[in-house]
Amino acid sequence: MNDYDVIVVGAGLAGLRAATRLAEAGRDVVILEANTAVGGRERTDIVDGFRLDLGFHVLNPAYPAVRRWVDIDALALRRFPVAVGVRLDDRIARLAHPLRHPSAFPETLRSGLVRPADIAALARWVGPTLLSARAAKKGRDVSLDEGWDRAGLRGPLREAMLEPFLAGVIADDRQRTSDAFVRLLIRSFALGRPGVPAAGIGALPAQLADTARRAGVGIRLSHRVVSTRRRAHGWHIGVEGRDAVTAHTLVLASGLDHALDAPHPPTRGLQTWWFAAEEAPSGDAALRVDGRRRGPIVNTAVMTNTAPTYAPRGQHLVQATCVMPSAATEHEVRRQLGDVWEADTRPWRLLRRDDITHALPVQDPPLRLRRPVRLDDGRYVAGDHRDTASIQGALVSGQRAAEAVLADLGG
Ligand SMILES: Cc1cc2nc3c(=O)[nH]c(=O)nc-3n(C[C@H](O)[C@H](O)[C@H](O)COP(=O)(O)OP(=O)(O)OC[C@H]3O[C@@H](n4cnc5c(N)ncnc54)[C@H](O)[C@@H]3O)c2cc1C
Repeated sequence: MNDYDVIVVGAGLAGLRAATRLAEAGRDVVILEANTAVGGRERTDIVDGFRLDLGFHVLNPAYPAVRRWVDIDALALRRFPVAVGVRLDDRIARLAHPLRHPSAFPETLRSGLVRPADIAALARWVGPTLLSARAAKKGRDVSLDEGWDRAGLRGPLREAMLEPFLAGVIADDRQRTSDAFVRLLIRSFALGRPGVPAAGIGALPAQLADTARRAGVGIRLSHRVVSTRRRAHGWHIGVEGRDAVTAHTLVLASGLDHALDAPHPPTRGLQTWWFAAEEAPSGDAALRVDGRRRGPIVNTAVMTNTAPTYAPRGQHLVQATCVMPSAATEHEVRRQLGDVWEADTRPWRLLRRDDITHALPVQDPPLRLRRPVRLDDGRYVAGDHRDTASIQGALVSGQRAAEAVLADLGG
């Protein structure tokens, strides 16, 4: 006899969403999670009183899945300006979203990075996708590099701003990622104003876990699944150091971990350095990039200018992100940070370095937005690698896997 209707492996965003939908439909569901906390790649740790997310994350409230399944107000989102500061040879140029920060528009035009030809090329590249997401799905998808070439987007806007900024978002410094995927990302940045929950990005999965528990989901932490075996009427799941668990149906939402027999795409990695500073190097809350590319950092931000809750009172938190593989040394990172922020970084204290080798599934062209979630009889898969490499993709994949289970169970 099966203990459960459904076992979900993994309490990341995809597993939490799948389990909640199944429990809301009246199924008896348990999540087995290897870690000591929920959240998977979306986690926050307290280190010396600072809130350190596992790598630099932002939450975009414009994601349809977030609007549908997340109580944004309860997260007390601290929003970044929709702007980027670019370190040039002689100054910091600042580019801001013209509709969200209209008063900053003259400064954007004066930045020297946005020439009339660039505005026309930018409009050719992303304009149709800004008007309708469907535009991203039309025509042959190419790499980002080729997409920009085709649109005639060349010069300082591309090299000094777009390349480093997007490298940190897609974990790809060579623009091999799907052009259509990046245009969809830009659309979501244009529609929403991303931020971080006051209590750290881990507050998002914590909220989803509360919702799941209220729906009746059992969440068992420190339960690492080590084997999944098909039996006559369901699945027999081996758990490290514990009794096996059985269920009629199995949903694998184990992320990009290659240990289990589930489909896994190739991945890209990110590295984030977290520094504590007694004084903020700047009052600007916008993300900053190095337009001259003189070092390994692709973006940096003074987190506490946006979310003072990320540091003990009177202190500041600075993040610096590099694309992996990264051979960056602390000396190089401090030097480049000093240059980008025009500050003495010697007194800064390194709190932690996060090396996340499997940060994101590769999203090379052609973009496939809906990969199958049914594996074989009674086995399903959920995760950002089924949809898009994002919070939106992970949540949607969980919902899709649950709907497939319910359809097959006749529920
Ligand atoms: C550094 C970084 C920055 C990011 N920034 C953003 C951003 O700004 N915006 C955005 O939209 N997205 C961002 N993402 C992507 C986003 O975090 C992911 O798309 C999303 O969290 C994936 O969720 P998931 O449930 O698919 O997988 P995961 O979060 O990987 O969850 C998988 C879970 O399965 C568990 N597990 C694995 N193996 C086992 C096992 N054998 N037994 C039991 N449990 C197991 C894991 O412990 C984990 O909890 C970022 C990701 C990283 C790494």
